[in-house]
Amino acid sequence: MRWGLIGASDIAARHMIGAFRAAGGEVAAVLSADAGRGRAFAEAHGIPRAADSVEDLLGGGNGDGGGGGSGGGGDIDAVYISTTNEKHYAQALAAAAAGKHVLCEKPLALTVAEARAMVRAADDAGVVFATNHHLRNAGAHLAIKRLIDDGRIGEVLSMRIFHAVLLPERLRGWRIDNPDAGGGVILDIVVHDADTARFHLGEDPAQVTAMDAEGALGRGVEDSVMSVWRMPSGALVQTHESFTHPHAGSGIEIHGSAGSIIGRDVMTQQPVGTVQLRTAAGVEAVEFSDHNLYIRAVTHFMRAAAGDGEPAATGMDGVKSLAVAQAVKLAAVSGATVTVDYGDGDNAGDG
Ligand code: NDP
Repeated sequence: MRWGLIGASDIAARHMIGAFRAAGGEVAAVLSADAGRGRAFAEAHGIPRAADSVEDLLGGGNGDGGGGGSGGGGDIDAVYISTTNEKHYAQALAAAAAGKHVLCEKPLALTVAEARAMVRAADDAGVVFATNHHLRNAGAHLAIKRLIDDGRIGEVLSMRIFHAVLLPERLRGWRIDNPDAGGGVILDIVVHDADTARFHLGEDPAQVTAMDAEGALGRGVEDSVMSVWRMPSGALVQTHESFTHPHAGSGIEIHGSAGSIIGRDVMTQQPVGTVQLRTAAGVEAVEFSDHNLYIRAVTHFMRAAAGDGEPAATGMDGVKSLAVAQAVKLAAVSGATVTVDYGDGDNAGDG
């Protein structure tokens, strides 16, 4: 698979270019809004072509003009969108219209309606659309899910997610001061935790309450939030996300009628951490694979594009994680308990 990068971003440089190559793909082109930065990024990462517009990226490579659903843009088969969040929507629509498969970063968009339209556009174009929720690809989370599915903790009663980190200095740009670009910890991290809870529990949060804070880093956006979600089964989920906590560590706990699962340092991009199962029989250390999360996600995406199965996190998974994050935001701003709006009432038939 030949990839076009939409966005000369930190995540592309640090994780995704390596993952595309390790999964057997090629990185054929990169788009930056700044032509000079795009050329420098291409050179630094051994990418043959730099484009300075979506049209150029999608239409380039073979001179056939691209776009218009023709599958043009002869040097790329798929795009990876990792621009700032307000740009994902238009870029995904353009890529789908050009017949390219789409792997899009989270949050998919700034509104659930836009995210649903992105998924619909890909469906209409017959291309694969996936969300880059990395955590469900982690060996730790795959092992945790297996324990839950095998009934090792009985009926799930509650989940707690600890995802309060210190935002690295290099990322203290739009995330901490630009609401128009989708800044703030809710769109940045709550979406991942929503996806993780949905992955493990197999159900979608129904109602949320939340409080947020603008602390040491946020300037016009929240940098910390705590929330509680009620699941349709009756289970409660408690989450804590932050950009300002240097030493908190991350974790997940799932408590059931017959046992508890304790994951430490597992809400991360690296294949690290520990998982314990606690039952009446005692405490068991749970083994798990230490494979690279992003390579697994890309491998599943490439298989799906070849007609074999689904991506690890689909477009609808991205729609739903965004809907939960939007509900958390609304709950924090209003002080009310909010029913999560997945947009299916307005978009019947999309699901
Ligand atoms: P960056 O800030 O690195 O990049 C976002 C955009 O900012 C780029 O597309 C680029 O624009 C511009 N930019 C980047 N560096 C510079 C610079 N030095 N000077 C001027 N402009 C610059 O964002 P991230 O990589 O942190 O995040 C990108 C997306 O990926 C977001 O949607 C985020 O939520 C998501 N993400 C997902 C992660 C995951 O694990 N799934 C982890 C991290 C991020 P241009 O392309 O026009 O040059």
